[in-house]
Amino acid sequence: MKDPVGPRAGAGGGGGRDAGGGRDRSPVIGVLALQGSFALHMKAFEGLGVDARRVRTPADLDGVSAIVIPGGESTVMSLLARKYGLFEPLRRLAREGLPMMGTCAGAILLGRGSGEPPRLEAAPVDLVRNAYGTQVDSFTAPLDLDPLASAFQGIFIRAPKILPPASGADVEVLGAHEGDPVMVRAGKILLTTFHPELTDDPRVHEYFLASVVGGQ
Ligand code: GLN
Repeated sequence: MKDPVGPRAGAGGGGGRDAGGGRDRSPVIGVLALQGSFALHMKAFEGLGVDARRVRTPADLDGVSAIVIPGGESTVMSLLARKYGLFEPLRRLAREGLPMMGTCAGAILLGRGSGEPPRLEAAPVDLVRNAYGTQVDSFTAPLDLDPLASAFQGIFIRAPKILPPASGADVEVLGAHEGDPVMVRAGKILLTTFHPELTDDPRVHEYFLASVVGGQ
């Protein structure tokens, strides 16, 4: 077998934008590295045997199989993405169906909402920033997430809330906490309001690789 990444190799099939001959190949996950917890996302993917690439310029987007937008501060990331010419290319790639995952601030950017910052609006999902309060209202909670067989420890830091999707919207709620969606999927876009990259538990990253990047 030529497969270097074991069970995750299938993820390359749907992910590689320039995959030839329908053959599986290893995905390259582009991680937006302007601000925030990008290094931890890279570590999580590398721990799963998958290449992760820092994205800081439009050229860094060439050939990536997926994009991850980390947690951090959405206003700063949005500003820097516009400053470095990444905002419109990211928007276009999302429209073209490139798989994307956003955690916390990354989810804010990939979703929609009023006020600052300008969002990518890649998913038809509205998020309210800092909806649980300030830094001192950060918390952890065990989460029951549909794709996972047992609880996932959710870390919420100045987290946003995802508003319930409009009826008929093509949005799947994959997990909720006290009635609020915390993990949703809209086609190839996966949003979490918690930080899977701050845990040692790779299952959300694995789900993204196997089902969003590699799936239909
Ligand atoms: N409150 C931050 C924002 O609005 C998000 C916090 C986080 O990513 N932990 O961007």
